[in-house]
Amino acid sequence: MLKLQGGQAAPGFDLPDADMEAVSLGGFLKRNVVVLYFYLRDDTPGCTQEAIEFSDMQDEFARLGAVVIGISTDDCLSHSEFLDKHGFGVQLLSDVDGEVCSSYGVLQEKEHEGRKKICVLRSTFVIGKDGVVRHAMYGVSPRGHAAQVLELIKGMQKMQVAQDTVVSLNYELQNSEGELVEKTEEPVEYLHGGYDGIFSRVEEALNGKAAGETCDVYLQPTDAFGDYDEKLVQIEPRAKFPPTIEVGMRFEGQAGDSGETLVYTVTDIAEDKVVVDGNHPLAGMSLRFHCTVNAVRKATAEELQHGHVHGAHGHHHH
Ligand code: ZN
Repeated sequence: MLKLQGGQAAPGFDLPDADMEAVSLGGFLKRNVVVLYFYLRDDTPGCTQEAIEFSDMQDEFARLGAVVIGISTDDCLSHSEFLDKHGFGVQLLSDVDGEVCSSYGVLQEKEHEGRKKICVLRSTFVIGKDGVVRHAMYGVSPRGHAAQVLELIKGMQKMQVAQDTVVSLNYELQNSEGELVEKTEEPVEYLHGGYDGIFSRVEEALNGKAAGETCDVYLQPTDAFGDYDEKLVQIEPRAKFPPTIEVGMRFEGQAGDSGETLVYTVTDIAEDKVVVDGNHPLAGMSLRFHCTVNAVRKATAEELQHGHVHGAHGHHHH
């Protein structure tokens, strides 16, 4: 069975809890770190020990923004009895047909009295807010395990921006008048360390920062989208454009002298002429880049080889 590794996208799940309410991984993304622990069977000694420890440390996990979820192939009723009997606070999900267990690679074949049977290998996964597996632990022992997982999450949150890390951040760009020109709605990620994933001045400022820290960088046009180039403003015959043309529309075109492909914005339309501007809309502007680090992780070997982030949606085609 294929095992997961840190840096891979966590397989999604949508399973019923002890109250038969559906719980999905998607519901926690962006907000929580998810600790997903797979165990063998409700109310057996090892699994009870594991649930006691996770349950006892639940407040500490919550303080780090982490939720703890147990999964086994028991049904919802069995989970409900197990929780009631011991008064556990952890959430338990029921994966009766073992599909989620299988997607996390935790099923193994065991021989018992000469007969082969499939059972769960006790395993725990720590999934970042971005849906990427940070730690994959197969074959864990229950005693002391919750404390060990808590330390891993503390370590994740202390991880600093450095060469070959993937940085997730939110940012705001303001012009020299202090007006907002761009703002992220969701965190964006880039590969740190000279891969052209972000402005190099911003990389310098982010070195050594950890999740939750902010930085402010004042960028001259040459540090950002370049100086404004008058030569990239061109007047074209209107007949070259579709009849529905409007100011603000954008077209791809070749620059007159270099032949480079640029995005041109229509800035003016006369009866038979159209003015297009091949400068970036923020060219020539001094900008203030203000950002907050959302998360930092090590890049995978594949990401380093490609020079860009692959992220929670797995590998994309180039
Ligand atoms: Zn790639």
